[in-house]
Amino acid sequence: MERFNFFTAHPFQKEDRPILNFSVISSGSRGNCTYIESPNAKIIIDAGISQKELATRLKLIDRSPENLDAIFMTHEHSDHLKGIGPLARKFGIPVFSTLGAHEAAKKVVGDVSDWRYFKPLDRITIKDLEMEAYPTPHDAVDPVGFVARCNGFTLGQATDLGCLTPMIFEKMASADALLLEANHDVEMLEVGPYPWSLKQRVKSDSGHLSNKACAELVSKVSHDALRILVIMHISEKNNHPDIVKVTVKPCIKNSETRFVIAEQSRPTELFSLC
Ligand SMILES: [Zn+2]
Ligand SMILES: [Zn+2]
Repeated sequence: MERFNFFTAHPFQKEDRPILNFSVISSGSRGNCTYIESPNAKIIIDAGISQKELATRLKLIDRSPENLDAIFMTHEHSDHLKGIGPLARKFGIPVFSTLGAHEAAKKVVGDVSDWRYFKPLDRITIKDLEMEAYPTPHDAVDPVGFVARCNGFTLGQATDLGCLTPMIFEKMASADALLLEANHDVEMLEVGPYPWSLKQRVKSDSGHLSNKACAELVSKVSHDALRILVIMHISEKNNHPDIVKVTVKPCIKNSETRFVIAEQSRPTELFSLC
């Protein structure tokens, strides 16, 4: 009698192949970086940590900086660009940003031989991965956020936002996974240690997004098919993960959606949309 072989896949079984993977490598005012990969392309958004630290953290998710196809830069603030120059020079990786962001970043980033420009709402294709840039309200030069797409899967990124614009709602709607900023709790910011001028900057329409504003965004853009929501850029001095959780999590439409808070000191797991 022939024995059933448990190790033979059913011929009609769909191959369980990840289509769009991502990990938040670092998130917060001491450095931001997000890794995204499709079956053929590997990119990062921002490199606000040192090149060495980035390599160490990529190793934790079994990846390495050598194979990166592109570095996308959202804006020129130091928590987003610290590692860009050394990384681009060491591995010959092209950097993509708006012209304004490059002009503003030049002095810190130094010489990079392959710097390519896009305009907000351009779609940039890296092999089988499409990156769409869109303008964000932030006190930087021509800042952008990104939407990554591959084979019908969409990952939306919206961080460093002073306020919510119709464009942000539009771009974050119907994504399979979202990376959204919940920077501060307004009351903690008000009584916290920041000088008055910095408090005004953070609270302004070109500063950072509060937990309550993030909750408003989530209540509008979350939907039944949203798989993962990663909370980004949370302030260590003016916020607490527990406050983020009670403010934002109840706004998620589907209780099956994963809720994750990205950390400053270590990468998230490598999430897979497949
Ligand atoms: Zn910024
Ligand atoms: Zn930032």
